[in-house]
Amino acid sequence: MKYTRFLLLTLAVASLICSCKKDKEENPLSYYVTPYPYDIVSVEEPPASNEIRNVIFLIGDGMGLEQVSCAWVLNHGKLNLDNMGVVGLSRTYSLSDLITDSAAGGTALAVGQKTANSHIATDPEGNPIPSMFVKAQELGKKTGVVVTCLMPDATPSVFCSHSDNRYKYDEVVDGYAKSGVDFIAGGGLDYFGKKRKDARNVAEEMARAGYAFAQTETEMMEAHLPILALLADDNLPVSLERGDLFRHMAAKALAELSANSDNGFVLMIEGSSIDDWLHENRIDLAMEELLDFDRVLGDVLQWAAADGHTLVVVTADHATGALTLQDGDLAEGRIGVGFGNDSHNGIAVPYYVWGPGRNNFGGILENAELGARITSCIR
Ligand SMILES: [Zn+2]
Repeated sequence: MKYTRFLLLTLAVASLICSCKKDKEENPLSYYVTPYPYDIVSVEEPPASNEIRNVIFLIGDGMGLEQVSCAWVLNHGKLNLDNMGVVGLSRTYSLSDLITDSAAGGTALAVGQKTANSHIATDPEGNPIPSMFVKAQELGKKTGVVVTCLMPDATPSVFCSHSDNRYKYDEVVDGYAKSGVDFIAGGGLDYFGKKRKDARNVAEEMARAGYAFAQTETEMMEAHLPILALLADDNLPVSLERGDLFRHMAAKALAELSANSDNGFVLMIEGSSIDDWLHENRIDLAMEELLDFDRVLGDVLQWAAADGHTLVVVTADHATGALTLQDGDLAEGRIGVGFGNDSHNGIAVPYYVWGPGRNNFGGILENAELGARITSCIR
């Protein structure tokens, strides 16, 4: 009897070792070193009690704590995110699913209420809910979105449009024309014309209504508010191919929005493509997107430190890829990671706050509560 038990136990342990080994062979780690490490900014944070005039909300799509940790190693133990003194966790589940999509995750952040997956700033019944941009506009502030994705993708759209289905692209694009948003920059030109089911060209309609319509970086840099910059047919090129375009878009938004409003502005900047490459389990491309997003954050913090009246919040709508940092070297800036899946994950994501008003944040919040608190800081 004893012998049989021992034999069974030995067999069980042996098969466990075998299956682990097999797992490792089937799921080898992906290794990466960035060719472009960079210095982070050093900024003086204004007093928390300063009056808040501007709010800059940066969203890294799919940017969970694992993703941030990997980027931190790649950049040899430093990120501009390290400047953010107030940190907390945001719970991301939606009203329909434990695992949120970008539509419901973004809606919670933009309007301050949770909704069901696939909804763009509407409740689960499809009733529109105003985003924080509407409050900003009522207070006479300028508004803007800067993204690397096609404009009717979920995250920019929850700030500017409404639909009960994120894939009703025509309806989502129509929302941009009605939004009154002053600075709109990203990709997705085809969705304003060529790819529409009707024969309309919404970009030209917006141009006739007064928008400076730019299709190249040069045209965007020469334009003045209101600006519609659609700089690619679909998503913008990947980080390593687009150079400093994302940084230039953000810098132009800051320059235009600040120069044209006595009452301040609210700007949403999304590192949209981090998520896309995590879905593909491409650690190299996902990390380059995250590092580019962090470079943009560095520029934003420098601008905000000089201004003194700007609240800066960074978070993610959800994490993607069940990423795990399993190997690497901090001095070499090398990571070895595994992916657990190619979809979104249900774990809480970090949020980071900097500047005046930061004492309104901290601890564990629902994503909708985080959005509501940011909205309450629009004054
Ligand atoms: Zn996604």
